[in-house]
Order: sequence, then structure tokens, then C-alpha cells
Amino acid sequence: MKIAVARESVLGEHRVALTPDQVSRLIKKGWEIVVESGAGNNSLSTDDAYQQAGAAIEGDRQTLWQSGDILVKVAPPTAEEIDLMPEGSMFASLLNPLGQPEVIQQLANKKITALGMELIPRTSRAQSMDVLSSQAGVAGYKAVLMAAAALPKFFPMLTTAAGTIRPAKVFIIGAGVAGLQAIATARRLGAIVEAFDIRPAVKEEVQSLGAKFVEVELNEETATAGGYAKEVSEDSKKKSQELIAKHVATADVVITTAQVPGRRAPVLVTDAMIAEMNPGSILVDLAGEQGGNCEGCVAGRETQVHGATIIAPINLPSTVSVHASQMFSKNMSTLLQLLIPENEINLDFEDDIIDSVCVTHAGEVRNERVKGAIAQTAVTA
Ligand code: NAD
Repeated sequence: MKIAVARESVLGEHRVALTPDQVSRLIKKGWEIVVESGAGNNSLSTDDAYQQAGAAIEGDRQTLWQSGDILVKVAPPTAEEIDLMPEGSMFASLLNPLGQPEVIQQLANKKITALGMELIPRTSRAQSMDVLSSQAGVAGYKAVLMAAAALPKFFPMLTTAAGTIRPAKVFIIGAGVAGLQAIATARRLGAIVEAFDIRPAVKEEVQSLGAKFVEVELNEETATAGGYAKEVSEDSKKKSQELIAKHVATADVVITTAQVPGRRAPVLVTDAMIAEMNPGSILVDLAGEQGGNCEGCVAGRETQVHGATIIAPINLPSTVSVHASQMFSKNMSTLLQLLIPENEINLDFEDDIIDSVCVTHAGEVRNERVKGAIAQTAVTA
């Protein structure tokens, strides 16, 4: 079995799909690993470190892309990279299948068996392969550090000879994986933390991290059977917005992470709410790439609104490239070991993880929602 690890080509993508520790583990199974020269440079995994782990280094990009039984990387492939893939080969990375359905169609046209890492089911069995969770945790952590760096105040309470400093107030909206890590990080920095989520089920987790859960009573189910948030009625939206407005107004920092799978992120913090905040307040919108939770946010930019700053970072996990890569790599390595139980690829569609993750195979797009997105692109083109 030969796995090829590609160097990332997208600007700002500093992660690598397999780090030397996992390479060494896979080599012990009798597999061969070939790494594109420089693939780990931005996450401090040098070519030397890969060689010491037992991998071969390939300097020629075209040769690398043609040389593995499976090629792995982090970011979705570009059109040029799809051109480099041999017809009928196997490929695994994040694929952004609903955001870029045209890429999926290109992969299907080339009969690539493409595995989309974001499609790993959110089940206990798949937890160690779940890149959405591992990378969301990184984003939640880094969002708090960005807010702390931008806020012209301390986070902790300080009692000094020069007077007493009151702790910063941080309000976190969306207490999923990213939000919970943001709560934990803000608490470690000494802030007073409040959190809101449309799913009341997260209340205990929020409280166990030392934050106050702000609650609203809604007359409807707000989560799917799978535990995700649902799009809620106008009445519920209004009630939760009234509550959010009250807590945004008194916060020094607001961090938003709210998402509804497959939909535009809900707008939860309006322009009118931001106008009520103190000047110098900071909002970090982790849903910026999905349209944003804060009105007026621009993905990838810092925007000044009524004296507050909205930061809407893109690809935050990549900015913590060493540990984000280490976690991504563990997720990838676990998936590869599931896929290759006996030194041979076993594309067993009876296995729910392999069935979910495999977006294209033998010229077909296998995922119904992705097929819908492709049809929609064709209609609007
Ligand atoms: P996500 O990124 O889709 O959403 C982030 C958070 O935003 C969620 O907590 C959601 O409830 C919240 N949200 C959505 N709309 C909102 C609104 N209008 N107002 C306020 N909050 C809103 O979610 P995620 O972090 O990827 O995961 C969510 C949940 O999925 C987890 O808490 C967990 O229950 C489940 N999960 C399970 C596993 C597993 O079993 N392996 C792994 C990961 C997640």
C-alpha cells in the first residue's frame, strides 16, 4: 500500500494531511509513504523528519500526484490538481462538497474515488476521524486569542497597587465544539463568560466549563435527532434575538460560532445590537465563511461598525498549523486504517463511515445532497 502526501497549494493553507508521527505508525504496518518535498514546512515537519519516520521524499509534483494508491491532502483540490490525478485514482481531503459542487463534478468526470473528510459521520465510532470537531476546537481556541489581542482591555480581574481591574465580559453564541473550546479558553484567561445556544441540551456542558448559560424558552424542538441545530420559526428567532441583544450590549467580546448544517449561517447579532455595544468592543465571527452570524461581517476582514470591530477570520485552524495538522493527521490516519484493513483498499459501502465519506466513485456522485447542489449550479449557470 502506498500513500502519497501532497504539499498544499492554496495560499494560507499551512496544514499538512499526515505528520511524521502518523507516517511512522503507518509505515510500521508495512505501508509505503511518499511525501511531496516541503509538504510539512509550514507546520514545522521538515523533509528530514519525514525521512526519519521512514517516508520517501518526492520533489517532482507531477510524479508525486501519480505515485500513490491514495493521495491525501488538507484543502480541496484545485482544477489544476484534479488534472494531475490519474483517472480512476483515489483521493482524500476536505472537499467542501456543498460549497464547491463543481469540483465534485470534475472529480466524478475523472472517475476519481474522492473521500471528503468533512463528511465523516458525527458518531462515537467515528470520533477519532472527525476533522470537523478537531479543527473546530482549534478555531474556538484561536478566536479567543484574537479577541484578547484586539481588545484594549485585560481579560482577567487584576488587583494591583495601581488599582483593581474588572474582568472582561465574553459572550459566546453557539456552544458546539468551537464554542465550548472558546468558553474554556476565555475562562482560562480569566474572563467572565456567558454563552447561548439554541439547543438547551448544551446547558450542562457550558456550566461545567465555568460559564453562565443564558436561556430562552422556545415552544419547539430546536435540535435534530442527530443533535444538530434546526432552522427555527420566526417566533423563536425573535425571542432568542431579544435575549441575545441584552447580553451583546454588556459584553466586551462576542464570539459567534452558530451554524446550521447545509444552510447559510443564521444572522444573530444585528447592526442595531452592535450599536449598543461599548466602543472598542470586539466581535469574532467564526461563521464568516458561511455568510456570518454578525450583520456587516466580511469574511477574511476586520470591519469597524459603530466603534466596534468585527473580525471574521478565514481558515483559522491553519494559523495553529502544528497542532491542527497533528489532529487532522490523526483523523486521516484512522480513516486510512479503516479503509485499508489488510494491506488492501476495502471500499465497503456497508460501513456507514466509508459510505458517508465517499463522495464520488466510478464516475458517479454518491451523495444525494451534493447531487442536488450540482443540479442547482447547473440551473443557475
Ligand atoms: P455546528 O458547527 O453545526 O454549530 C455550532 C453551534 O451553533 C451548535 O451548537 C448549534 O446548536 C449552534 N446554533 C445553530 N443555530 C443557532 C442559533 N440560531 N442560535 C444559537 N446557536 C445556534 O455544530 P458542531 O459544533 O459541529 O456540533 C454540534 C453538536 O453535534 C455537538 O454539540 C454534538 O452534540 C454533536 N457532535 C457529535 C459528535 C460525535 O458524536 N462524534 C461530534 C461532533 C459533534
